[in-house]
Amino acid sequence: MITISNTTEIPEIIQATQKANELLKSPAFFDAIRAHASFDMANVSPAVVATLMGEATVTMIIEMYFSRNRRVFGYDDPAHPEIIHINQNRNEFNVPALVNTMLHETVHAVDDLNPEASFGHGDNSSAGKENTAPYWIGSLAERMAGGQSDQITLQIHEGSPEAFNV
Ligand SMILES: [Zn+2]
Repeated sequence: MITISNTTEIPEIIQATQKANELLKSPAFFDAIRAHASFDMANVSPAVVATLMGEATVTMIIEMYFSRNRRVFGYDDPAHPEIIHINQNRNEFNVPALVNTMLHETVHAVDDLNPEASFGHGDNSSAGKENTAPYWIGSLAERMAGGQSDQITLQIHEGSPEAFNV
């Protein structure tokens, strides 16, 4: 089972964590992933990704950080894939968009737990990555968490957060 753990007292983060954990227990969420035709940059089907997510045992940990770039939602951390780094200064600090980030990073963590499978998105550029598993599943989660847009919302990444820290 995947559990997202929050120790912050930020209301939006508390609500987004609750919503993300609900989705991770929701058959409708996994059914929607299974119903997707295919992911770009993946060597397994969405159905397999859904199964691996359902079988995974990992506790995701939320850590806030500060980036001057407000367009940046967070960053992927291949050395610690269970950590969800969220830019406290980001635009769209609303519950559905935060759920998107949480599920995006959770997909990376499940990918990391399964070395024989690959369903990431390559480099940090978000251009043309709408149909990769982390972006697509994150966007699905955003919509299921009440996000108003049905468009794919890209989670802008940054590579080296130190470069942005004050
Ligand atoms: Zn990513």
